[in-house]
Amino acid sequence: MEFTRFDKRIWLASPTMHGDEQLYVKEAFDTNWVSTVGENLNQLEKGISEYVGCKGAVALSAGTAALHLALKLAEVKEGDVVLCSDVTFSATANPITYEKATPVFIDSERDTWNMDPEALQKAFEKYDGKVHEDGMLYPVPKAVMLVHLYGVPAKIDQIKAICERYGAVLIEDAAESLGATYKGVQTGTYGKYNAISFNGNKIITTSGGGMLLTDEVEAANKARFWSTQSREGYPWYHHLEVGYNYRMSNIIAGVGRGQLLHLDEHIAKKKDIYMRYKEGFKDSPVSMNPYMNDTEPNFWLSCMLIDEEAMCKQDRSLVGDENPMATETTYVSEAGKSCPDEIREFLAKYNVESRPIWKPMHMQPVFAGCDYVSAGDEVGMDIFQRGLCLPSDITMTPEEQDVVIEMVKKCFE
Ligand SMILES: *Cc1c(COP(=O)(O)O)cnc(C)c1O
Repeated sequence: MEFTRFDKRIWLASPTMHGDEQLYVKEAFDTNWVSTVGENLNQLEKGISEYVGCKGAVALSAGTAALHLALKLAEVKEGDVVLCSDVTFSATANPITYEKATPVFIDSERDTWNMDPEALQKAFEKYDGKVHEDGMLYPVPKAVMLVHLYGVPAKIDQIKAICERYGAVLIEDAAESLGATYKGVQTGTYGKYNAISFNGNKIITTSGGGMLLTDEVEAANKARFWSTQSREGYPWYHHLEVGYNYRMSNIIAGVGRGQLLHLDEHIAKKKDIYMRYKEGFKDSPVSMNPYMNDTEPNFWLSCMLIDEEAMCKQDRSLVGDENPMATETTYVSEAGKSCPDEIREFLAKYNVESRPIWKPMHMQPVFAGCDYVSAGDEVGMDIFQRGLCLPSDITMTPEEQDVVIEMVKKCFE
């Protein structure tokens, strides 16, 4: 099969607007509620809390801001340990450092690519609140930051049980998984304080924004208070606490209000894309990012994993500890085999976007020195080496996707 370069770029995930967004934005302008108060904010918060099924939802300027306030609600302070998913976007871990707490990264398992309960258990046993032989104190972890990677729910029951056993607060980073369910219940409702994101490429977007979700109405009010500079109820400006400028604007909320009408439709289209890949790769050395039977992902990004036997030599050691500044990777093409970097470069030639799996946090120079706990064979590193995020844009046509599938298969010839 001969390929020609796509005129229109095939995106990983681009914002998809429907028109309703503009109507709500216009309403904000027409009524002059263009600041951080207004009906779009009220309705977006109400709409999301009804959709996911939680009592409190606070609209914020970013998902990262929501994670930060979640940590503050969990009373994470300087020197505290927070156990955090290792394979994720850095925005999961960054807020831990805002509070001068210490992230400890937990490896993934193979069934969902998310935090491994076995590794989590091991970390709680290691961080036992005692001084160890190395003379260091291993504080009992204060919180667990659990990511649902690419929209696939993690093993929540096991993880929640471990958190309860050790008295740690569970925080879900559901930035990528809005609309996904675990045993019929939405992600973002299992933790005590949770975050979703409306960043530009997420399942729905407000151009940029996020939300804190919690069942504790008082906590939600507290987050809303912090997000608007912790202004006390006096006629003059009076402050008892440090505040943040994290509130979402009513204009931006209008975009979200319009998008929310199309969330289910986005999920359905994402699922079609995932299933088409799955079918397309049936007889090839490629499998799709897995999920458990009792979960329904939102299929935000479709990711592939190359069978071990079909991997050609790929050397990413140039990128990492030895040479943190390097961006080049090298691979050695081989008949019948391929690797993520070869596929990514091949697709790029034809104007198709793909993206490596999130590089594990414990491999990031910025988190060098942070501890990392794995149950055995380092699953996250393996997925990083063999996995690739495929174009999952809902404006991609089935015909275009078929060509992408053929392009990937071509790399194994
Ligand atoms: C997008 C994302 C975030 C951050 O959300 P923003 O709204 O961009 O701040 C956090 N965690 C994960 C896993 C994400 O993918």
